[in-house]
Formats: sequence, C-alpha cells, structure tokens
Amino acid sequence: MALRILHVASEIQPLVKTGGLADALGRLPAAQLELGHQVAVLVPGYPAILDRVSPVDELMTLDSADDGPVRVLRGQLPGTAVTLLVLDAPQRFDRPGNPYVDAEGRDWQDNHRRFALLGRAAAEIARRAWPADVVHAHDWHAGLTPAYLRAAGDFCATCFTIHNLSFQGIFDAELYPDTGLPGDFYTLEGLEFHGRWSFMKSALNFSDAITTVSPTYAREILTTEHGMGLDGLLRHRATRLHGILNGVDYATWDPATDPLLASPYSIETLDRKRQNKRALQRASELDEDDDILLVGVVSRLTEQKGLDFALGALADLLIKGRLQLVLLGSGDPVLESAFNALANRHPDRCAVRLGYDEALAHRIMGGADVILVPSRFEPCGLTQLYGLRYGTLPVVRHTGGLADTVDRYTVSRASAATGFVFDTPNTTAVRRALGSALKLYADSAAWQQIMRNAMRRDFGWDKAAVAYSELYANLVASRSAA
Ligand code: ADP
Repeated sequence: MALRILHVASEIQPLVKTGGLADALGRLPAAQLELGHQVAVLVPGYPAILDRVSPVDELMTLDSADDGPVRVLRGQLPGTAVTLLVLDAPQRFDRPGNPYVDAEGRDWQDNHRRFALLGRAAAEIARRAWPADVVHAHDWHAGLTPAYLRAAGDFCATCFTIHNLSFQGIFDAELYPDTGLPGDFYTLEGLEFHGRWSFMKSALNFSDAITTVSPTYAREILTTEHGMGLDGLLRHRATRLHGILNGVDYATWDPATDPLLASPYSIETLDRKRQNKRALQRASELDEDDDILLVGVVSRLTEQKGLDFALGALADLLIKGRLQLVLLGSGDPVLESAFNALANRHPDRCAVRLGYDEALAHRIMGGADVILVPSRFEPCGLTQLYGLRYGTLPVVRHTGGLADTVDRYTVSRASAATGFVFDTPNTTAVRRALGSALKLYADSAAWQQIMRNAMRRDFGWDKAAVAYSELYANLVASRSAA
C-alpha cells in the first residue's frame, strides 16, 4: 500500500546532526521512497539548513502571533529525492550553533515554544498543505505533534519514535498556555508529568503507535532501570510499542568505497586494512606498529556512553603497553580532561581528539582493530554497526541495540561471532572483554575469521523501511475499520 508519510524531526543528515537521530532521518525517508511511498520531512529552519537547501516554493504560511513570521518552504534533501519541508521561523530558529543550547551550553529559554511550533506546523501541514496518511514524529522535539493532531480532529495515523528516552522535553506548568493546546490535555492521561509537562509523555499518550530503535531497547524501557520515569506509562501502552532496528547508510559507510580511507578494502582484500591502521597511527602521532591492538572510540562523552568506567580498563592496559587508543568525542568536561591526561601520559600509544570530526570518524573505523562502545544503555547505536562493516570488531556492553547487533565471541561460538560482549557496566568487565580481544588478536587467522563474519552482516535501511511500512499499513487499516 503506497502511503503519504510526513516525518517530523529536529535533525537530519547531512544538514544538522548531534547524534544518531540525524542519521536515521537522513536515510529512512529515502528507503521509504524506494518502496513507492510519498515522503516528506519537516525540519526547523536552522541556518545550517536554510543555507544549504534551495527551496522551490513556499508551501504555506502559519498564523503566529507569538512566533513572528512563519513560512513552510519546500525543497529537497540533498542527495535524495525526498521532499524537505523547512519551517522558516527566524524568530525561533535563526540562531548560530547547536540546535538546543546557546553558546554557554544553556538550553534556549524558549525551547518549549520553538518545538511546540514544530509540532503545530506539522499538524497544519498534514491537514491542509501536504495531506498525509501517517505523520511520524521523532524524539521529544517533535513530541507535541500527535497532541496537535488530536486537537485538530485526529484525521490521520500517528507514529512516534523514541531515539533516546533520556531527553524528554519537560517544562514548567506556567509555560503550558504558550502551546495553545487544549487545557484538558493537561492531565495524567495527557501530558502532565509530576506537576510539570512533558513533550515525550505527550507523544507516548497521543500516538497510535510508539516505536524505538531496537527490539531489546523496546523491552528494556518497560523496566524501572531503563524507563526514565516513563516505564509505567510504557507498560500501559506496551501493545502499541514496537522495536524496529535502525539501519546503516552503506553508501557512506563502506570500506570498499570510502574516499576518506588511505586504502579502501573489502572482505577480499583484508590485508589493506593494515595501511589504514598505519595512516591512523601516523596522523595520531602514535608508534607505527602493526602488532599492537588499536582501540577506537567515536562517541559523545556522557554518562550514557560508559566511558567513565571504561577509562580505568584502558588506562591499565595502556600502562602495560598492551594496546593503543584513538578517541574522538566531546561532552562532559571531567571526562574530556581525564582522557586528555591519559593521552599526555602515553603520547606514543594514546591520542585524544576532542570535538566533532566526520572524516576522522571514518579513519578511525578504517584504521582501528576494535571499536569500543561500553554504553550503560544504547537505544540502537551506530558506531558498532559501522565497526562491523569495517571489520573493526565491536567491544560492547550487552544492552539495547548493541545486544541485538553484535554476536558474542567465545571459543566455542567463534564461527558465528562478530565481536566481544560484556554484561556488567564496570571497569573489570571492560578489561575482561578487551583481554579476550587481545588474546584472539594474537591469532591472526582466527581474528580474520571474526572480521569476515562481521563484514558479512547486513544492517541496511531496507529492512527497517519494510517494517515501518507494515506498521503504518496496520495503523491506517485499523483507523478505517474503526
Ligand atoms: P548517539 O546518537 O547516542 O550519540 P549513535 O551511535 O546512535 O549514538 O550515533 C552517533 C553518531 O554520531 C554516529 O554516526 C557517530 O559516528 C557520530 N559521532 C559521535 N561523536 C562523533 C564525533 N565526535 N565526531 C564525529 N562523529 C561523531
């Protein structure tokens, strides 16, 4: 069944990205087009978007006493045939830098208004300018969309995807009237949340279907440990909750065609990976040594990612001269300086690059032997998927999408293994997993077998696109039956 699908999100590759959300929006709509659907994506008119997209026309304007002039411009997502709808509201979105915080790292004071406008615009577009069968909102920024659709008469199916439950968009009660939503939505069954109100909760209550980005994370968020205060509501709506694994953009992440690698390679030319390792060691000013295990990390440095407890294991193995480390990331200043100190202590074995650098991320994937992802929780995770395709074996914690995508190496399960998996989020467990990688690395034939297993795995977007199509079709069918 060909459908008209309107996605709503605050990030999209290659225009605006702070995490995996952008990667998903960059590829899922294109994969849906290939299945024959009509697809549009609504995004805020951040400067980074307006500077790079040439609109073909103005789709509509919005009444907006408080938000200044608001127009919806229609263009195309670069490199695809996907329709991009840009919410041009300079008073809300024409600001430099990060989409969510000011130069001092504080949330923009009007974030509730900015993202309420995004939801209201989506509902208006679906109602009168780009009629949709399904409106699919992503993460808290788009979380009021289903509420605006409900207020407008609930005329199409709604789907909401949790890319990360830890960011919820919670605001004080006195700001609620700024949304213009009905007062009777401000209840426990609506969007009220412990005396305040929540974009995420609103989405969970008002959507026809809720998805998250891996089957294991879909189960985990039903527990108090991972439910971030919303597990009760999620359990209540469990029959509406589905886990659909994200995909990888193999057009960008393929070692055989990656133009950023010193020496592209494939499963048939595994030996060439060594040249990428050399190039990475040289560029990072590490000892050029083929035989030492090179560990890569590409990550936000936050509590979620578990690098605080991984640090002790890495420090210990660096002191013993057992491995090298190249880390790219930014975030928590305490972690940033701890990793910097590690690099200062071991300049020939440890390189730390603080910041965001797409090209270096590719070179780490191509040059490292393993990619470490020790997350406390991980809705899907992309870097382990890149690692698999690059034969850069993932060392991951058994949680969320990491559990769904990496097959644990043990001596008896070597023929099916693709990486190293540990269970407990602590230093000892990371050290043990790295120890197991070090042991296998000494046996180059066995190591290459695991590399081949990993590189053969397919996590393309086509599977996810089919799963979403089936879900949408059920939503549309059950609405017309009702
Ligand atoms: P999350 O969305 O929680 O940050 P994911 O693994 O889902 O984690 O996605 C992270 C994405 O951001 C990946 O594409 C990863 O390569 C990229 N990334 C993270 N940190 C950096 C960085 N410092 N430089 C370049 N890319 C980065």
